[in-house]
Amino acid sequence: MSETTILKNGWVFDIDTETFVKKDVYIVGGNLVSMVEADVANPVEIDVEGSYVAPGFIDMHVHVFETKTTLGINADRVGIEQGVTTIVDAGSSGLEDFQDFKQMIIQPSQTEVLSFLNISKQGLCKGLSELADMNDLMSVQELTEILAKEKNIVGLKARMSASVVKDNGIKPLEHARKLADESNLPIMVHIGNAPPEITEVLPLLKKGDIVTHAFHGKKGGILNNKGKLIQEAHEAIERGVLFDVGHGTSSFSYQTMKAFKENYHYPFSTSTDIYIGNYDKPVGSLMTTMSKLLAIGYCLEELVASVTSRPKQALGLAEQGSLEPGTRADVTVFKVVEQRQTLIDSQGEGMIVDRMIVPQLTIRDGKVVFESNEY
Ligand code: ZN
Ligand code: ZN
Repeated sequence: MSETTILKNGWVFDIDTETFVKKDVYIVGGNLVSMVEADVANPVEIDVEGSYVAPGFIDMHVHVFETKTTLGINADRVGIEQGVTTIVDAGSSGLEDFQDFKQMIIQPSQTEVLSFLNISKQGLCKGLSELADMNDLMSVQELTEILAKEKNIVGLKARMSASVVKDNGIKPLEHARKLADESNLPIMVHIGNAPPEITEVLPLLKKGDIVTHAFHGKKGGILNNKGKLIQEAHEAIERGVLFDVGHGTSSFSYQTMKAFKENYHYPFSTSTDIYIGNYDKPVGSLMTTMSKLLAIGYCLEELVASVTSRPKQALGLAEQGSLEPGTRADVTVFKVVEQRQTLIDSQGEGMIVDRMIVPQLTIRDGKVVFESNEY
């Protein structure tokens, strides 16, 4: 039997009740186990008193194809080194480059790398207007073939803004709908500057689909000028479409998020849309993004759910996103420290933040892969 590791005395997150409970977590080999299954006579003990212990964080929107796109950032730099055990690259790779993405990024990374495959075959490898030519979209048959071979594709990415689709308007998303229905995969839709209008985009989405950049501060977003959800957004969220932060360089606004929080209690997911150009500012990291939301007034439990159980459910992940005995031991240990600083959103608006969520220890597949000595 392999060695037992015990994470002792931490505040452990329970995804069912969305609460923290003081208890120990047991790991044998690559899996989480219950206390009775652990060899408690001779364990490796890690004292995490004063820290929080959560299922490995999942960032559903990153760009890590550093070898073939100009915006890509190193997967482990935004993954395990920032307390994130699973990342989903949102459309950097399409069908054409997926084998390279697999060999160059998925396989060598310690962080688990999943993919929302771009509906354009060229992904973001040949510029950022990947949906300007309908001939570049993959077919249902091509998708079916690649899905039969590749287990790391968990959804489809469709970027619906004017600079991406050019004269094609809503047509690429209609095609994405067809692909998604045939494959049973969720679509992650990027919203931004129209056309297409958000009122055309949202009605095409079904339960399980994801709207990223949901809380941007541009014209034509999910909220009207009174801070209320437009009818199409309200209907989408009611039928089970998930709204996702997707911070990015220009896609997260404190004003929009605050108005949403003030008026609604719908669950959402938190992700970064992190890449080489926004790593420093304004995004920082997944935990920095969560710290901004904490300062807006969301509670820690809600925010941890937004990077664990919600992405788990959205992506249909069995092993990730819980601390259930028998599942893979991907664990994020973090702290909340008193640290006053000003953090900006994508509009350049500053907000004074008093508490920062910071990574402490990252466990991937039962092994400690990152440890911070900073706090
Ligand atoms: Zn985007
Ligand atoms: Zn993105």
